[in-house]
Amino acid sequence: MKPIPAGTHTLPPLPYPYDALEPVIDAKTLEIHHDKHHKKYVEDLNQTELALVKAGEQTDWHMIPFLEEQLAFNGSGHILHSVYWTNMTRPGTGGEPGKHTLSYLDWYFGSRATFMAQFAATAGKVQGSGWAILGYNTAFCRLELLQCEKHQNCILQGTVPILVCDVWEHAYYLKYQNDRAGYISRWWDLVNWADVEARFLHATRGKLPLEALAV
Ligand code: MN
Repeated sequence: MKPIPAGTHTLPPLPYPYDALEPVIDAKTLEIHHDKHHKKYVEDLNQTELALVKAGEQTDWHMIPFLEEQLAFNGSGHILHSVYWTNMTRPGTGGEPGKHTLSYLDWYFGSRATFMAQFAATAGKVQGSGWAILGYNTAFCRLELLQCEKHQNCILQGTVPILVCDVWEHAYYLKYQNDRAGYISRWWDLVNWADVEARFLHATRGKLPLEALAV
């Protein structure tokens, strides 16, 4: 993996056609969400980074509070959307949770069902725009559920996103209007559990998470 120079982020292509997530997420919503909303986060992230470089060259720090806030907002938006797209696949084809994911969900949340209920409650009760995030926390060495406002607020430092659900209205409003709970309950049909497992194993940096559970 190479470091990404300032101002050179690119919009990752969707890993499926616009209509692949029908009927859970309609093609028009997916197209606007990816091609307009995610694209704008990438563009604004690049602009922000270049503005920070310029500020450094000119040792002009008067815009720093705004630029750092923009960096957190647009950078987190870019990262979370990139995870969200690959977390999903055609309805009913995402399989079952991988053995590492399932073991850690059971160990911490008690059961997969409890985890799913807590995830749905987390997503459903985000105030305004935000995300439910299942992440691997590198300090606690376990999975953690977070309720994220906007893209960057309420984050627990050191948490790597594993499974994320976008509950900004732009993610569901054309089809579900104000029925966020309806969108969340049907969203489970899209979850690509192989991607979740792969992200979990990547976040643990090659450690053996199953062995860690056997105290
Ligand atoms: Mn979004």
